[in-house]
Amino acid sequence: MGNFILMPKLGMTMTDGKIIKWLKDEGDMIEKGDYIFEVETDKTSLEVDSLYTGILLKKYYGAGEDVPCNSEMGYIGKTGEAIPELQRAAAAASVPTEKQSVSAPAAEPSKKVETKPLVVEEGSYDYDLIVIGAGPGGYVAAIRAAQLGAKVAIVEKDEMGGTCLNRGCIPTKALYASAKRWKNIRNADQYGFKVTGAEFDFTAIMENKNKVVHRLTSGVSSLMKKNKVEIIKGEAKIKKEHEVTVGGKKFTCKFALIATGGRPASVLKNIDAGVEIWDTDKLMGLKSLPEKAVIVGGGIIGCEIGCILNSFGVKVTIVEMLPSILSMVDGDIAVCLADDMKKNDIEILSGVTVDGIKKDSAHNIVKLSNGNTVTCDMIIEAVGRKANKDAFEDLGVELTPKGFVVTDDFMTTNLGSVYAIGDITGICQLAHAASEQGIIAVERMFGGRTKAEKQNIPSCIFTDLEIAYVGMTEAQAKEKGLDVRIFKFPFGANGKALTMGESEGFVKVVCESRFGEILGVHIIGPDASSLIQEAVTAMRLEATAESAGTTVHAHPTLSEALMEAFLGCSTGAIHM
Ligand SMILES: Cc1cc2nc3c(=O)[nH]c(=O)nc-3n(C[C@H](O)[C@H](O)[C@H](O)COP(=O)(O)OP(=O)(O)OC[C@H]3O[C@@H](n4cnc5c(N)ncnc54)[C@H](O)[C@@H]3O)c2cc1C
Repeated sequence: MGNFILMPKLGMTMTDGKIIKWLKDEGDMIEKGDYIFEVETDKTSLEVDSLYTGILLKKYYGAGEDVPCNSEMGYIGKTGEAIPELQRAAAAASVPTEKQSVSAPAAEPSKKVETKPLVVEEGSYDYDLIVIGAGPGGYVAAIRAAQLGAKVAIVEKDEMGGTCLNRGCIPTKALYASAKRWKNIRNADQYGFKVTGAEFDFTAIMENKNKVVHRLTSGVSSLMKKNKVEIIKGEAKIKKEHEVTVGGKKFTCKFALIATGGRPASVLKNIDAGVEIWDTDKLMGLKSLPEKAVIVGGGIIGCEIGCILNSFGVKVTIVEMLPSILSMVDGDIAVCLADDMKKNDIEILSGVTVDGIKKDSAHNIVKLSNGNTVTCDMIIEAVGRKANKDAFEDLGVELTPKGFVVTDDFMTTNLGSVYAIGDITGICQLAHAASEQGIIAVERMFGGRTKAEKQNIPSCIFTDLEIAYVGMTEAQAKEKGLDVRIFKFPFGANGKALTMGESEGFVKVVCESRFGEILGVHIIGPDASSLIQEAVTAMRLEATAESAGTTVHAHPTLSEALMEAFLGCSTGAIHM
């Protein structure tokens, strides 16, 4: 019994490949590893090698033909063996099995509504589109819709820019930048400076943060004006399709886009009267630093806040119910960060929950599920976010059990004229994911998009050692049964990192063994958040580890660490 030659799936978006030419003829003897045909995808071309030894008995497709991924395209066996007759695969790609697909998983809602045809009741409306919520999802969608010629209004009940600009990404990164500078001043002797009597002014640090926030939020208002998007201030309600009310005034629209985001969730119970619980929203108005803080939740936000406070001298304890902090990141990265945090005197208590909080005259006493207690003067809860759904509670949009809006790939809800994007969908709670979803939605409405490309979404974590990653972790790739190659290149072997005095951490590449498809890249170390973009682009263009690694990188740069990790997964790292 012989073996079929299958059209490989070489990347996330590949559905079929064109045979450029066969490199072997029927009747040829083939050794395992011999190149047998050349394939062209929408992004790349590649020679494909054989997994089997035998005679090429049959080519089911000829040069120039398109073959769906994972379809039989040839047969290798023994002389005289009966050659199976095949129904040739239809033009559309067959759905690959888990095992055969080597693509990185795209972020997906837990549940999806079936893709809706773009049919919306025609009529005369005040606006083509009303966007509810001016966060990075809503305001970006409004701009793109206006660029496509739509008449657009955006409703916002608070400041323009949403969580991201006012209470999330931007204010925390302004504080992170101050924390980094303070660390540099404290470690100035490492660079040859003698700094004495240095101190920081926390009020001035917060004022700087506010200035950055203000500059950006007013920038969003200017962008609305420039693109002729009308801003309606107030709280929106949408009870039926095509109708949005704000402060008792009714506005009609052809399409509505829900971009109402989320707010901090809370799980703490058994709290004494008088105990103040801080969430990240409240923290943005902090007036003075505590001496000792307990952070409940060792996820991204908990770890970021913990590192910032620690840099300013606060004694931080992180309480995490899972066995380790940052359960979503690659295991090696989480271990490296936990080690760095411990080195900086951040206490991590994992595998425990908070049972209750008592108050004595001066302190809070946090009671843990293992019977221990931690004393502190500030408790910060960072246990995730819940959906802001007050605006559309009576509308009848389908929700997940956790209350997030269910959409199809174009971000359409079960109501054809209502779309939802960003944190409210619970798909991926990141600002750039919200913006991308906003663009997909309005291009569907006004630009006639027929395909919603599922892109790899990078994530960045701004802890003392910065983290960034895209695609599959080593564990996820192995769980999928993929044959993977892994390589870790340390920043300690990178010249630029050494000159910067920031040589901790590494770049880890996970790639598929046979074709070298890059499945995931995980970075911990200096400027990881900027470095990751090379990996995101390489993966989108379906570069292999070899082509990414053999691309010339400037010297001396941190990006050479990425190059070396790609090389380590292909032809061999040079500096290790
Ligand atoms: C502390 C923290 C740090 C973060 N750091 C990062 C980071 O570094 N990088 C990153 O990518 N992401 C980060 N995030 C996540 C990021 O902020 C969110 O993913 C992003 O803001 C979601 O955008 P959105 O447009 O979906 O919603 P939001 O930004 O939440 O905007 C929703 C808007 O809708 C408005 N709204 C709600 N209901 C109504 C209504 N009925 N009528 C009118 N207006 C309404 C709200 O006032 C709000 O302005 C962080 C979040 C937090 C909390």
